[in-house]
Amino acid sequence: MTTAKLQILRYKCIACGLCLSVAPDVFILSQADGKLTWVKTPNFNDDVQLVTDPNLLTDIALQMVGVCPERALSIG
Ligand code: SF4
Repeated sequence: MTTAKLQILRYKCIACGLCLSVAPDVFILSQADGKLTWVKTPNFNDDVQLVTDPNLLTDIALQMVGVCPERALSIG
C-alpha cells in the first residue's frame, strides 16, 4: 500500500466534512478559514494544499476524492 499525495483545491471546499469521515486522523477543518486542511497545519488558509502523511494511503485518498461534492480533491 502506497502513501498518497493529495491535492486540496481549498478555494472549492465548502467545509461539508464528508471527506473527514473517511480520514479523521489525517484531516481537520482549519481554524483559520474553516476549510479542509492537514491535521498538522491547523491554521492553514491558502488556496491550495498538497498533503502527504504516513496514514494517508492511496485507497483512503481515493475514497476522499470520491465523496467530495465540489471536486476539490485529487491525487497528485
Ligand atoms: S468533501 Fe470536499 S467540500 Fe467537503 S470538506 Fe472535504 S474537501 Fe471540502
